Amino acid sequence: MSRFCSLQSGSNGNALYFENGKTKLLIDCGISAKRVAQRLAEIGVAAEELDGILITHEHSDHVAGIRVFTKRFGTPVYATAGTLEAVEEQRGSVESEVHVLQPEQFFDIGSITVYPFHLPHDAREPVGYILHTGRHKIAIATDMGRICENIALEMKSSDFVFLESNYDEMMLKTGRYHPQLKRRILSSEGHFSNDQAAKFAAALVRSGTGNIMLGHLSANNNRPPLAFERVSKEIRQQGAEIGTDVLLGVASRSCTGKIVEI
Ligand SMILES: [Zn+2]
Ligand SMILES: [Zn+2]
Repeated sequence: MSRFCSLQSGSNGNALYFENGKTKLLIDCGISAKRVAQRLAEIGVAAEELDGILITHEHSDHVAGIRVFTKRFGTPVYATAGTLEAVEEQRGSVESEVHVLQPEQFFDIGSITVYPFHLPHDAREPVGYILHTGRHKIAIATDMGRICENIALEMKSSDFVFLESNYDEMMLKTGRYHPQLKRRILSSEGHFSNDQAAKFAAALVRSGTGNIMLGHLSANNNRPPLAFERVSKEIRQQGAEIGTDVLLGVASRSCTGKIVEI
């Protein structure tokens, strides 16, 4: 059996947890090491048990706690060469075993086969992850300005998808952000909007995905019910019912979410 849990997700910090059997992974460490350990403890996992931390990219909302966490718990880190370089430039070297991964190449951690794939985002070498357990396929894709056809193809028919739904376009456009920041978020290397998430979620549902969690919501340019409604509407248009045919959730920006059993 596999379990997924969002320990926190949003532009204020990201840390996700996934386990399959005895293999336990953290995806990103963008909140303090202490808080990650506390939130893992809330779901009955000791930080010392982790087999690895998969990093998506070097933005601080994904790596803020990485140095202290790895120093304290010695967890092996997996990231692309570009991400590792950028993390080290900004924060100094990570003090645990480091594995350089190649995008679009599979590797194994315990019982999980990991497939990192390149994402269009304004970082050095950002990736999303597909986690294969033998029985199930789980995809994690946040921090991306658009979805490329090859990524869409890879993510097709995933059993569970954690998908960015960062902003409501109207809220962002009429909001108080500096025009330059608005342009950055809206760009093809920025973030995924509720509209983009809705369309892609509908495509995932058509491909057989039955469980989607929206994440990385903006505090200023989005509201959880807004993202949920927008994506639900698009899924319902496929003739699928939310809650029966498709499970849809929204990850919290401030606390540990429900455990998803896959
Ligand atoms: Zn982010
Ligand atoms: Zn980012």
